[in-house]
Parts: sequence; structure tokens; C-alpha cells
Amino acid sequence: MGLSQLALSIAESPTLKLNEEARVLRARGEAVINLGIGEPKNKTPEAALTAAAAVLGLGDVKYSPTAGTPGLKRAIIRYTEANYGRTVAPANVIVSSGAKQSLFNLLYALLDPQDEVVLLAPYWVSYPEITRMCRGVAVTVTAADGGFRPGLGEVERALTDRTRVVLCNSPNNPSGVMYDDGFLRGLVGLCERRDIWLVMDDIYHQLVFDGRRATPAWSFTDRDVESTRVVLVNGVAKTYGMTGFRIGWTVASRALVAVMTNIQGQTTTCSSTVLQAGAEGALNGDQAVVATLRDAMQANRDLVLEGLAAIPGVTCTRPDGTFYCLPDLRAHDPDSMRLSEFLLRKALVVTVPGREFGMEGHLRISYAGARADLVEALARLKWALDPAAPREIQIGQRRCVRDW
Ligand code: PLP
Repeated sequence: MGLSQLALSIAESPTLKLNEEARVLRARGEAVINLGIGEPKNKTPEAALTAAAAVLGLGDVKYSPTAGTPGLKRAIIRYTEANYGRTVAPANVIVSSGAKQSLFNLLYALLDPQDEVVLLAPYWVSYPEITRMCRGVAVTVTAADGGFRPGLGEVERALTDRTRVVLCNSPNNPSGVMYDDGFLRGLVGLCERRDIWLVMDDIYHQLVFDGRRATPAWSFTDRDVESTRVVLVNGVAKTYGMTGFRIGWTVASRALVAVMTNIQGQTTTCSSTVLQAGAEGALNGDQAVVATLRDAMQANRDLVLEGLAAIPGVTCTRPDGTFYCLPDLRAHDPDSMRLSEFLLRKALVVTVPGREFGMEGHLRISYAGARADLVEALARLKWALDPAAPREIQIGQRRCVRDW
């Protein structure tokens, strides 16, 4: 068919694929529970809806400046002041169509072919693929102790003279763990000493539990936004549960934002002005919605941890934030793809194989969904994995008998 080798090497997003599989099964009347997708079930904040509707009401929906509407940029600057304690200029901000596009534009701006991007395992599935699309090479750092927090020495040993970027997501998708301040301080120092970009994917930084807060990596550098190597990526998808708005942003030096703006100007031109208005509404609106979402996710985490602890052979590191956990199921099956397929077939529960995140033997579970679904899914997982659980279970219309 004459497709490029690069295009053919890009993997389908496993979470979107599983989501589609779950949708098809549900359309066939199967009682599928999707623990695969990272999408809170909350209603879009009122302030976002009103602001987006106001733009539509004017009947004048046109292009915005490539890097974002002045109003949304102002809201992002205020958000940055409130959450990072730094004042930046509009020229330090570029709005994109989701944090995913922000990351793509960033890596496109920073990498020459074969340049290396260091990822900390477990990492978000899209990082290696976006790196490859930008003709870079992903280098994974896995903690030797088998945990979810690689040490600074392990990161340092992975750096070469081709390393251009370290990509860090804290709290982390898929494990939910937050890196501690000592590690982040060391990472900022290391990157600034070695002239390596430290891209902080802060998309979950408001969803931190137990009264804790994510310390911004920016607080560990004295350099200003023009000279620091720390770049911030954020968005409204997770903090406000506004995944469908597709609005993310980057805060970086003017020079880097200018190059990213050229890239975006030649691809998507700008994000939708309607959805930018919605994001502006959310950022300027009542922030109680964030606390409500965070509290709901914390309660869901506790429920899921309790449910998993009741299944023999399953251990789970306690998430500090996000709405994911990454239980270790090696005692049941070291092959996470096989186990995930087994659970979908037998228990009609969607999970994401840990292999996709660089953590074989684990499954990612999203607890962003409804509590009733979580309770039901945990009962099904226990039935499927615990030989001591009742042999029979009702799943939707089906009476299921354990036959393995
Ligand atoms: N970064 C991480 C770690 C994510 O988990 C996600 C979405 O799942 C994104 C970025 C993308 O966010 P957006 O929906 O704004 O593109």
C-alpha cells in the first residue's frame, strides 16, 4: 500500500482500542464494566458550559490566534500564579488541542532524529509512540527494586550525549504514585546541569489525595521561565473532567513557545474557539468542582484498594493521586495481555495490560467510574481470580460458572 515505515511502526492506543471493544460488547447487550478508560464521570462544570455556549450564541466562531485566545491565556497565567507561584507572560503560553498535542508539539520542537527521550517506568502509553513520531528514541528507566519510583542514580545512568528530554508525570499514570520532593529536586538539578529539557506532565497535579499537594518541579529551580530547563504541560481534561474539550497547554520560554506555535500553525492552526472558551470558563469558575472530583476519586481509590486486598495473590502500591492503580498480578499470570483478555472474556471487566506501560505482570485499573460499577467489577475480579470465591456468579443476564 506504500505506507511509511514510521507510520506503520506506531501502535494503536491500547486504551482507546479497549474502550472501543467495550463499547461493541455493550452494544451487543453484554454487561461490560470498563476499568480501562481514564475519564471521570462528572458533569462538565457549569462555568465551562456557560462560557462555551456564550461563544456559540454569538454565532461568530472563527480562528483564534494560533497559541490561544487572549482570554484563555490570561486564565492559564492566573492558574500558573495560583498553582506554581510564578508569573509568566502570554508569550510563555501555548494552548493546544489536549495535553497530548502539547506533548507532540514539544517533542517535535525539541528532537532531532535519533535524539533520546528518557521515560520513567511505568510511563503513560503514548510517550514512546509520540517520541517515535517525532523521530526520537525512547529510553526507559525501570527501578531495579521493582517499584514504581526509579532512583536519581538510575535516571543519571540512562543519560547519554543524545539525551534531549526527560519526561516526568507526577502523580503518575498508570501507578498513581507521586515522586517525592527529594527526587524531583535532584531531577531538576540534574537536567539543568546537563542542559536537558525536563518536561513535567502535570495533568494530574490537582488530583492528589490524603490532604497532600504535588510540589511543582519549578519550585526547585532559581532560574526564570526564560532560562529554566523545566517545561510545564497541563490541561483541563483530568482536573475538571473535561476530556472531550481537548484543551491542554504548555508553559515554557518564549523561544520554545514560538517554535511550537509555528508547528501548530502548520498542523491544526489553533484549538477550537468554542472549547477554549469552555476551558477559560472552567479555570475562572468555581474551583470547588476540583475538590469534589478529588474527594470522589480518593473514595474510589480506597474502595478499590480494599477490594483488591481481598483477592489472594494481588498486591497494589497505594496511589497518591490520579484515578489509576497498577496492581501486581504476577502470582496469577505473568503475561498481562493474556490476563487482561481472560478477565474481559470471563468477567466482562476491561483492564489495561501493564506491558503497555512498561510494567509487565501488572494491570492498570482506572477507578474514575461510578462506585456501583467498581463494586460490581471487584466482585467479578474476585470471582475470576480467587478459587475460594463462590463458583457461580450472575453477570448481567448470564449465570457464570467458574470452569478453570
Ligand atoms: N498525559 C497523561 C499522563 C495522560 O494520562 C493523558 C490522558 O490520559 C494526557 C497527558 C492527555 O491529556 P489530554 O486528554 O488533555 O490530551
